[in-house]
Amino acid sequence: MRGGVYVEKIPFNRACFEGKELAYIAEAISNGHISGDGPFTKKCHSFLKEKLGCEAVLLTTSCTHALEMSALLLGIKEGDEVIVPSFTFVSTINAFVLRGAKPVFIDIREDTLNLDESLLEALITPRTKAIVPVHYAGVGCEMDAIMDIADRHNVAVVEDNAHGLFGKYKGQELGTFGCLATQSFHETKNFTCGEGGALLINAPKLVERAEIIREKGTNRSRFFRGQVDKYTWVDVGSSYLSSDVLAAFLYAQFEVSEAIQAKRKRVWTRYYEGLVDWADQSGIRLPIVPNDCVQPYHMFYLLMPSLDVRQKFIQYLASHNIQSVFHYLPLHLSDQGRELGGDKFQCPVTDRVSDQLVRLPFYNDLPIDDQNRVIECIRSFDG
Ligand SMILES: *Cc1c(COP(=O)(O)O)cnc(C)c1O
Repeated sequence: MRGGVYVEKIPFNRACFEGKELAYIAEAISNGHISGDGPFTKKCHSFLKEKLGCEAVLLTTSCTHALEMSALLLGIKEGDEVIVPSFTFVSTINAFVLRGAKPVFIDIREDTLNLDESLLEALITPRTKAIVPVHYAGVGCEMDAIMDIADRHNVAVVEDNAHGLFGKYKGQELGTFGCLATQSFHETKNFTCGEGGALLINAPKLVERAEIIREKGTNRSRFFRGQVDKYTWVDVGSSYLSSDVLAAFLYAQFEVSEAIQAKRKRVWTRYYEGLVDWADQSGIRLPIVPNDCVQPYHMFYLLMPSLDVRQKFIQYLASHNIQSVFHYLPLHLSDQGRELGGDKFQCPVTDRVSDQLVRLPFYNDLPIDDQNRVIECIRSFDG
């Protein structure tokens, strides 16, 4: 209740439907091919391949599984080191830890909250096997510097591009820099099928083995293409392909990708314009997008002056029936991170940003009136 008027809750996220999801699911069912790699999966593969220009695309059950496939493909083993930002989702590193890797946590830049490439070279050792940059909020990492360091030390780069689909760095699509990149189609991402993901493959030599690992270690994909006359167990692997029913849902969203991105751009821009003068006066930092980055409008965050103010802010919005949420807790200081020696890494920017950051309600169909209510409420917060 506010001023005696009931106001409906504005959630942080809401799954949005673009219209053809159900029709395509019905079509997948009538196609009679609802397991993996059916007609809709193929449409999703070609769509992403064409839009991004990568060598191959494989839909997976999640971004987490695409990361696990990456670790298998790179042959990560006990004692290998993998460099990741401490400010990321658990799966970015857990996928490699599952294969025995030792996490090496790198701090982030103050502006984009992406891994700080100036700290990268000092963390590389003869055991470093991979660097996993995360394009936070879909704003590109400094890929020129990262690729240069990786190439000079012969280290693989796997981009965790869960936030960054259709973002660009210096005119090049995010997800096309590393030998591998991973996407998420979880409900909270720009494009969704509930739970889903994709592995983008940019290094041609990794394609065949990626197909095998995704198909339980068998050469089933080659068999279906008529390239071998029987299919059999040829390598290690697991079951990482998603049902064509989910691919049908996802394709309905891909087909209107530009409309989805336009909606998200509208939401982002409205927040920015509605808050920029207030933020300036209140010592609050809005997202920074460098000139050479095109962002895909994944989220809108604020950096508050302190943890205390951030917590009061979240409570204040909640008291007005608006849900806002913080984000990653530093992985190097998590229980599992510490157990793996994470607390010996210094990530002061991560520690601070983790306390200060808050994300505002953001989804494709966030009504303008609701968004105006959020902006008005924020502007009335006086710390
Ligand atoms: C969402 C997310 C993931 C995990 O995605 P799932 O599809 O849920 O496995 C991994 N990394 C980042 C940065 C994410 O935001």
